[in-house]
Amino acid sequence: MTTDRHVLFAAHAYLPQGWRHDVLLEWNADGMLVAVTPGSPVPAGTPRANGPIVPGMPNLHSHAFQRAMAGLAEYRAQSSDNFWSWRDLMYRFAARMTPERLAAIARWLYVEMLKAGYTSVCEFHYVHHAQDGSRYGNAAELGQCVVDAASQAGIGMTMLPVLYQYSGFGKREPRPDQRRFLNTPESLLDLLLTLRRARPGHGALTYGVAPHSLRAVSSASLHTLLDGLDAHLPGAPVHIHIAEQTGEVEECLAATGARPVAWLLEHFNVDARWCLVHATHVDEGETAALAASGAVAGLCPTTEANLGDGLFPARPYLDANGWIGVGSDSHIAVDWRSELRLLEYGQRLTLRQRNVLASETRPQVADRLFAAALAGGARASGRPVGALAPGQRADWLVLDGTHPSIDGRKPDDWLAGVVFGEHGGSPIVEVHTGGRCVVRDGRHEEEAQAYADYREAVSHLLG
Ligand code: ZN
Repeated sequence: MTTDRHVLFAAHAYLPQGWRHDVLLEWNADGMLVAVTPGSPVPAGTPRANGPIVPGMPNLHSHAFQRAMAGLAEYRAQSSDNFWSWRDLMYRFAARMTPERLAAIARWLYVEMLKAGYTSVCEFHYVHHAQDGSRYGNAAELGQCVVDAASQAGIGMTMLPVLYQYSGFGKREPRPDQRRFLNTPESLLDLLLTLRRARPGHGALTYGVAPHSLRAVSSASLHTLLDGLDAHLPGAPVHIHIAEQTGEVEECLAATGARPVAWLLEHFNVDARWCLVHATHVDEGETAALAASGAVAGLCPTTEANLGDGLFPARPYLDANGWIGVGSDSHIAVDWRSELRLLEYGQRLTLRQRNVLASETRPQVADRLFAAALAGGARASGRPVGALAPGQRADWLVLDGTHPSIDGRKPDDWLAGVVFGEHGGSPIVEVHTGGRCVVRDGRHEEEAQAYADYREAVSHLLG
């Protein structure tokens, strides 16, 4: 720890208690906020923010390599296209990945995330091995490429190596096209520790694990994985795909007699360290029990809409004080504003009502969703992010106060303009992570080179 202090004065900043004016932010050389003082006089010579500032959004679910195939499955390939036919295409794509291509794709993706105002990402990383399924000399080769891409782009990361063992309930044999994903709990923990030795955690990097889904692990292997994790990283985040598809709910019922969320809650101590990604198909009892657990429901509305998954019952869940966060998952969209907008619009279209996800205490729907996604995204990431407060990472976004979606409005209406307004591009003009400006005037410092490398990688993948 060093005593070096950096300061910024913001005429308006969104603090945990809401919009405040004349806010002085102070952070240290480690990129952590040490003081946030509203109603402050402007100390002479203090730099001023170029617009209102809000905390950066954590992205709680990403499969980086899928960025390169976003938009390539938007045509009818079979008489009935569904999630599983999309997955076959994704597997063919994964089979062609190399360390160099993955590094280039991930770096460009993280540049896009930063430009969109995501300042950290939980990477659910499951392509581990070489094309023939054999281990790389460095077992964590591909994970290391992704971690390095994040640090080059300047985005915070929670790296979650994925345990994938089976192709379905009842320990079904994996398919040949899943061979790059496969591990035992022991080999996955080895891979995690190898990666952590090569790239130790720091202020912008932490680790957890991701059992892929109840389809892909057994109860025994999940216990082994969690015990092993706690021996090395007690309390580290655990993410799992839980109930994305009605087909997997039916298979889980047939195999275990319970629905996936109900089964997990009954057999494991699911608490605040857990993130249940795509908790899409939950009944009333599961909705209440998941909310009470303190786990985060990881919602990816644009991917879930794109894949035809279904709609999460967000209103009863939020009304029961359930935790949510958003992720860009398959990266068909890389924009938290789109995720929050679609989260609310899905409810409106289904219920034929407006402002469905507002509450009595937070009547502004954009404000409620923004605050909820910051808090839940931070909880899922296991990092001190998501708020402008002492002890938190110095991650924030500067808005363009003259943007047509917010110009001339009162601060309490700004988030509605940011989330629901779709007028001429993003109102986010600057992005700071760990106190460092990585996006200025809407452009990332590494943008041109990152895109050239991405373009090259994609041309080989598609060639
Ligand atoms: Zn996913």
